[in-house]
Amino acid sequence: MPTSVYEHLLAVQDLDLTLLQLRHKRGHHPIRTKIRETEAETDRNQLIADEIGMRRASLESQQSDLDDEVSRIGSRRSEIDAKLYDGSVVATKDLLALQDEAKMLRERQVSVEDDELEIMEQIERVDEELAPVQETIRSLVAAKTEYEVALAAALMEIDDEIDRLNEKRGPMAEAIPSDLLSDYDSLREDLGGVAVARLVGNTCDGCHMTMSAVAFDQIKRQPDDAVINCDQCGRILIR
Ligand SMILES: [Zn+2]
Repeated sequence: MPTSVYEHLLAVQDLDLTLLQLRHKRGHHPIRTKIRETEAETDRNQLIADEIGMRRASLESQQSDLDDEVSRIGSRRSEIDAKLYDGSVVATKDLLALQDEAKMLRERQVSVEDDELEIMEQIERVDEELAPVQETIRSLVAAKTEYEVALAAALMEIDDEIDRLNEKRGPMAEAIPSDLLSDYDSLREDLGGVAVARLVGNTCDGCHMTMSAVAFDQIKRQPDDAVINCDQCGRILIR
């Protein structure tokens, strides 16, 4: 087999190794790690925000209960005021009972309104706690978007390079006999990409094993166009 065929095969192998590296780079691009880290950090902050949000919801629920109570007190006080002044209640005992109830309701209202103020202050403090966490989440989400844009650009560049190399590979592979090419393809799958090696002296440049004198002697007696494989690793040897 003419030397140029093997040189073509080596050149194809160089291209294939570059393609392998590009595909690896595509799958393991460092920006992907950045995106995963940003997502994890966002999730961590979201858990904090959710916990604060739950405390806020509980305070709002207490506030709403207090609002309801103030409104019930207000209605009852109006009822009592009406009864006290419309002349419908005349017995002193009943009037006194209504006045007592009105007094008790006024006191309860003051106490509920104090509680409401306290709850509102607590909500303010919770909001102050929540604001920086939400700001952090917003900037993490923005950072993730930037990383995604950068990743898309980087992948596009890699894909262009992969396309370019594949176009170059086509005619180069056509110059290689098909059975040699299919040998090469199955070997490179088994051997992690490097299927063709040079024979340097009596050493295979692929596995760096030195051949036995007998094996080396057999190779030397093969015709120039014979396909020789390393007896140690199986790689196609270029003499
Ligand atoms: Zn070898």
